[in-house]
Amino acid sequence: MTVTAVRAPLGWLGPGRLVEDVLVVLDGGRAAYAGSAAGVGVVASGTEGGTETLDGGPVPPEPDQEIHFEGFLMPGVVDRHVHIGMADPFSVVAGGVTAVRDLGWPPEVVLSMAGASEGPAFNGPLIRAAGPMLTCPGGYPTRSGWAPNGTGLEVRGAEEAAGAASVLLEAGAAVLKVALNSEAGPTLSDQDLVAICDVAHRGGTIVTAHCQGREQAARALGAGVDEFAHCPWSERLADELIEAMAKRMRIVSTLDILSYGRDTPELRTAIDNLRRFLAAGGRVAYGTDLGNGPIPPGIHVGEAWHLRTAGLSGEEVLEALTFRPLATGEPADLVGLGGNPLEDLDALANVRLVLRAGRRFG
Ligand SMILES: [Zn+2]
Repeated sequence: MTVTAVRAPLGWLGPGRLVEDVLVVLDGGRAAYAGSAAGVGVVASGTEGGTETLDGGPVPPEPDQEIHFEGFLMPGVVDRHVHIGMADPFSVVAGGVTAVRDLGWPPEVVLSMAGASEGPAFNGPLIRAAGPMLTCPGGYPTRSGWAPNGTGLEVRGAEEAAGAASVLLEAGAAVLKVALNSEAGPTLSDQDLVAICDVAHRGGTIVTAHCQGREQAARALGAGVDEFAHCPWSERLADELIEAMAKRMRIVSTLDILSYGRDTPELRTAIDNLRRFLAAGGRVAYGTDLGNGPIPPGIHVGEAWHLRTAGLSGEEVLEALTFRPLATGEPADLVGLGGNPLEDLDALANVRLVLRAGRRFG
């Protein structure tokens, strides 16, 4: 196992942890130290039992290689909505996205790719996947041009829906996705949705929903769905609905697919919904829907700007982009930027260093 030490003038290691002269020591796939370089070798006061514990944890091992990076360090970025089969995995990781969640692809392809992504030789991000979207006969995305056969799994009734959900979880699906797109065809019944949510929750995972068309967001909430795979954009949602959503649901942003850098009515509606959802205490996660239109691989700074427009602070944007802090015992995934994104968000487009599971990609 190679031990790599990365030192930089400034780093954001997680919420509330902006550190000058930062040192991150990566030991194989895990971080062995993340904190102030000056903190290494400083014994914390009040240690007992003869064990020396330092700021940030135990003494890190001696590095085999050292990287002096003149920029800004942060944890690897996680994109919670991609279609990796329509992207180049190497470009994704080299662009600063060290983990992705695939929300719709034939399971025999994407679940085996997800398994391969756990290995040290995989040239791409860590992949978690839903497999296909659960839908009703003729429902979205079974008639969509972008979706290969098997991207939608048609179920007839609650019993079949629950059975299909169980089979997917056994096959390694990390999350279940349901399609509720009334603009593209018929949709699952409320009974089907409840049955799928029950199986997911018993299996310790969540259900994410593609909601498109009037009333579909309310149906997802009522049936026990945990997450919106896109920020709802079909209609301005009522304040009472937004408040109920904020209590227990999460939104994955994917705002830029509504505009690709332009100003559109759909984008305005989605940002209005998201702003009120955030004000009500709801949580948002960064997601791009990579594979859908001209979304670039790697960190998409346009999506980050939409999150700012919806009301997140600079630090909250970094929180939405990441999953876990850079800390002892956490995955050895980090990104180095040419500038400080807390001062100028455009620095997110200036990726100069990427390590995933301790291996350098850019
Ligand atoms: Zn998608």
